[in-house]
Amino acid sequence: MSGAASAPPVALRGQTVAFRADPFLDDPSRSLVHERDGLVLVEGGRIRAVGPYAALAPTLPPGTELVEYGDAIISAGFVDAHVHYPQLPMVGAYGEQLLEWLDTYVFPTEAGFADAEHAARVARFFLRELLRCGTTTAMVYCTVHPQSVDAFFAEAERFDALMVAGKVLMDRNAPANLLDTAQRGHDESAALIRRWHGRGRQHYCVTPRFAPTSTEAQLDAAGALLRATPGLFMQTHLCENRAEIDWVRELFPRRGSYLDVYAHAGLVGRRSVFGHGVHLGEEDFCTCHAAGAAIAHCPTSNLFLGSGLFRLFDAVEPRRAVRVGLGTDVGAGTSLSQLQSLNEAYKVAQLTGHRLHPAQGFWLATEGGARALHLEGRIGRLAAGADADLCVLDPRATPLLEFRTGFCGGIEELLFVLMTLGDDRVVRATWAAGRCVYDRDREGDPFSYAGA
Ligand SMILES: [Zn+2]
Repeated sequence: MSGAASAPPVALRGQTVAFRADPFLDDPSRSLVHERDGLVLVEGGRIRAVGPYAALAPTLPPGTELVEYGDAIISAGFVDAHVHYPQLPMVGAYGEQLLEWLDTYVFPTEAGFADAEHAARVARFFLRELLRCGTTTAMVYCTVHPQSVDAFFAEAERFDALMVAGKVLMDRNAPANLLDTAQRGHDESAALIRRWHGRGRQHYCVTPRFAPTSTEAQLDAAGALLRATPGLFMQTHLCENRAEIDWVRELFPRRGSYLDVYAHAGLVGRRSVFGHGVHLGEEDFCTCHAAGAAIAHCPTSNLFLGSGLFRLFDAVEPRRAVRVGLGTDVGAGTSLSQLQSLNEAYKVAQLTGHRLHPAQGFWLATEGGARALHLEGRIGRLAAGADADLCVLDPRATPLLEFRTGFCGGIEELLFVLMTLGDDRVVRATWAAGRCVYDRDREGDPFSYAGA
């Protein structure tokens, strides 16, 4: 996948949106950097320069290809900090809360991934949907089957998209056909780590589903995997739902808290991302802050399953700020579009007495996600030196958007309307590692692999 490295430079012209500061720590309006007529120079898979068209155009290297996006907005690609690709066949499943929903819908669906061909078909569809939503990096749960991980990474590699994923570990409290053992889960994960971690832009993530479906021995084995290979990621679920929390207390009576179950196994550290954290306390936030661990805020999921309202503004409290990314959590979440996640995140913030400013929203969906993964500087940023993972947003994508954005007084209102009314239809194009991998308006197949 070295195609981008040898490709001629490309310059994307449009409105650009970037950040000069964390809008949760600084004034949100001042944090935002907007160019009405901007230019992004891309070469060798990286962003080389970002600035006003008038200033940069005369400095472009000879042979630079110019791609005109008109008044569309060029942003860093979205980062999805929590999503289950195998659950796409059952997204939007009726009637249950977390634990019954897992038994009724998720486990039967995940059992299908014993079939490698089925896994390949769903991975192919899922990655195209991600790119169609402008998401260029995701932290992804596969199933307990190693072939589900191979299928996902193989397809991600074809797009040269930076992905983080892993095999689910479950050795109890799930159907027998979805269980591994502490030893088998460890060994299968270790083999996948050797095969995929650090290959091109793919990264492995040790993935115990959540405390109730792993024995203490399996959680310890997950900790051993993390210690054995530096730079691995870890993902699991934490304090999503009240009944789940009560169950964890019964299963691990000697631990001080749900988070302590993971800490005891060595699973709370940099590059650990905990899904949900809806019912976390102050002590848990302090633990995450001190460890550099992150929380994936999944608003469409929390509302859909009735799990509760995540206290985003408590989590990012500056005196002990916790890294927070935005997750779609499909299939409990109801959309792979981070614009739709922001739509619901805004409402969750309102219900907890806060306003999610559009600068804070777009920051969460890009740089915030990168920080949650400790990949800030590399992804999630529209700035020289970062990987050229971009999305291009069309403010006139639908009749209502075209009408409504015609009344917008400035970039902040425009971004807010996009995060309220926007979804996959807004995404005009998606770039991964300096290549346009999705072009909504291209004739024929809108997707193209990196090597093509
Ligand atoms: Zn989840």
